[in-house]
Amino acid sequence: MNTFSKLQDGTWGIRTSSVVAPGAVVIVSRKDGTQSNQTVRAVIWTDGTACLCSVEPTAKPVPAAPKAAPARRSNWRPCGYPGCNPQHCDDCEGQGARGRSYY
Ligand SMILES: [Zn+2]
Repeated sequence: MNTFSKLQDGTWGIRTSSVVAPGAVVIVSRKDGTQSNQTVRAVIWTDGTACLCSVEPTAKPVPAAPKAAPARRSNWRPCGYPGCNPQHCDDCEGQGARGRSYY
């Protein structure tokens, strides 16, 4: 079992229950039971069976692609063309009065 451990420089590293090498990805358990993958950056100390290692900074998860803008826009108002709506309008192309690029 691998656990997080504070290193001498104050940053968080990991204590592994097996010998690992830099670049290895290990599963580390937190006290609350959740687990995460950590990449070993350097082995700071080992006794041949366990290691104390610094880890690569955790990459931030890629943000989810923004959802398509909802059809109903705030501040949208019809341009005045009969049947004008945000999805389709022959006159303002659904842009509404505020989005008209011509006057
Ligand atoms: Zn319109």
